[in-house]
Amino acid sequence: MEGIKSTNPIAVGDWVAFHEDKKGEADEGVIHEIQERKNYILRKSTNLSKQTHIIAANVDCLFLVITIANPPTSFGFVDRFLVMAEAYKVPVHILINKVDLHPDEHPELLEWKDLYEKVGYPVTLCSAETGQGLEMVAQAMEHKVSAFSGHSGVGKSSLLQQLAPDMDIKIGDTSTVHLKGKHTTTFAEMFDVDDNKRIIDTPGIKGFGITRLEKDEISLYFKEMKALLEDCRFYNCKHINEPKCAVKAAVENGEIAATRYESYLNMMEDDEGSYRTDKYG
Ligand code: GDP
Ligand code: ZN
Repeated sequence: MEGIKSTNPIAVGDWVAFHEDKKGEADEGVIHEIQERKNYILRKSTNLSKQTHIIAANVDCLFLVITIANPPTSFGFVDRFLVMAEAYKVPVHILINKVDLHPDEHPELLEWKDLYEKVGYPVTLCSAETGQGLEMVAQAMEHKVSAFSGHSGVGKSSLLQQLAPDMDIKIGDTSTVHLKGKHTTTFAEMFDVDDNKRIIDTPGIKGFGITRLEKDEISLYFKEMKALLEDCRFYNCKHINEPKCAVKAAVENGEIAATRYESYLNMMEDDEGSYRTDKYG
């Protein structure tokens, strides 16, 4: 991984080649090659301002668990999360959990579902309490390495208990792989739910969105904006005050949701030094 200053050379989810250590225990070996990652999830390492820690690699499906109440989720949080996931090429599937709290199909539920489906993300309404939607979630996990993230209290553990009931028991077994970064206490584990479903479980994954982006790349990670960028009059249009801006026109005619555009503007206003830690760290 050229260009990345990471505290851990290898992360859960990596594909590796290793030499078996014939003299030692049967399952011991020395890793001599890490295959190129198709994506990865980063977190800044504690105390090392510009260094990063790769908390998971090769994630096929990152489930973002949100709730519209108890606790409420903001569009801003979801959009930032989606932008980071897009930047690191991690496919996201949104789970709106605790729908049992809104038995009458709360209008907000449908609003969220429509909005993000239209942008291009799968959205599933579910409940860890009643089991609603969980079959669809299990189906989405087929033949994939999945991970779950979202605010604390949205029901990630409860969902995992339903979707992977053996996980709690098996974690800590010698059969699970523990990878401990040099500068962190985070444990990352991969768990086989069955023959074709795997889950990466790591506490650090719950956040995401700690690294920053160059301002001129942010619009590329709003899926619905990316499609329009060539139609702006100026090639370096920031989609804020420029004339003949295709993005602003789409916001005005409702093609782009106002909440998404607002999230975009907020991200453009961030000024805590915008850099992508893997590119410039
Ligand atoms: P986590 O912090 O994301 O892992 O959330 P937890 O799984 O610990 O759940 C937080 C609280 O929400 C617990 O009290 C759960 O019982 C409750 N909870 C989780 N899922 C649901 C759900 O689908 N419906 C309802 N009503 N409560 C839920
Ligand atoms: Zn524009």
